Amino acid sequence: MGALSLSQVTKAFGKTEVIKGVDLTVNDGEFCVFVGPSGCGKSTLLRMIAGLEDVSGGDVMLDGVRINDLAPAKRELAMVFQTYALYPHLTVRENMGLALKQAGEPKAKIDASIARAAGMLALDPYLDRRPAELSGGQRQRVAIGRAIVRTPKLFLFDEPLSNLDAALRVATRIEIARLHRELGATMIYVTHDQVEAMTLADKIVVLRAGRVEQVGAPMELYNNPANTFVAGFIGSPQ
Ligand code: ADP
Ligand code: MG
Repeated sequence: MGALSLSQVTKAFGKTEVIKGVDLTVNDGEFCVFVGPSGCGKSTLLRMIAGLEDVSGGDVMLDGVRINDLAPAKRELAMVFQTYALYPHLTVRENMGLALKQAGEPKAKIDASIARAAGMLALDPYLDRRPAELSGGQRQRVAIGRAIVRTPKLFLFDEPLSNLDAALRVATRIEIARLHRELGATMIYVTHDQVEAMTLADKIVVLRAGRVEQVGAPMELYNNPANTFVAGFIGSPQ
């Protein structure tokens, strides 16, 4: 389970409306990619879905339940940030287990969840290190591992690879695709990178100035972009 639907969702910061009535369905198990220029509202949309930002109008529904007013910790989702957002004073193991510990899970269950996530992401050798002792790619794998241990229905990724060099971006992208297959979870993934969008997505959502410009499977958008704006992101020659 992990179907998300947005209905006429808006967001205003003060008098400035930055999300202007977004309707969108992401099906259970789907890999949905958001693309669009800087400032079009991709992060704001993800943050509203995660509960990190109040929704100004409309409905955010997860598996048919309106979650607009649900506390972030109560939402069965996990978000992975561009900047990793790891706690520097905690080890990898502690970073990965923190949310489960705060939720009052028994130690044996926490240890088992960490072991499973570490195995999936090849993090076993690093469990007792602190973030400062890891490379950027390893840190991002820890951030992904921290999301996995909670076995959420829905994963939100906000440009998770943009701080990695090109080779690591490819390796981590392949890992994320594998995790999607293995976990069967719904994923929403923001990227600037056309190759990431084309290779990862079941569905691409092109955003422009707080609105959905076009939604479709990668090859649908590639072959039939609604306009030159969409073509510019999906890259079919005009
Ligand atoms: P993207 O992730 O697509 O680059 P954002 O969602 O970060 O875009 O931002 C969308 C718009 O909302 C931008 O114009 C940005 O300046 C504005 N914005 C984002 N967060 C805030 C905030 N906390 N206060 C005021 N304006 C904000
Ligand atoms: Mg952003």
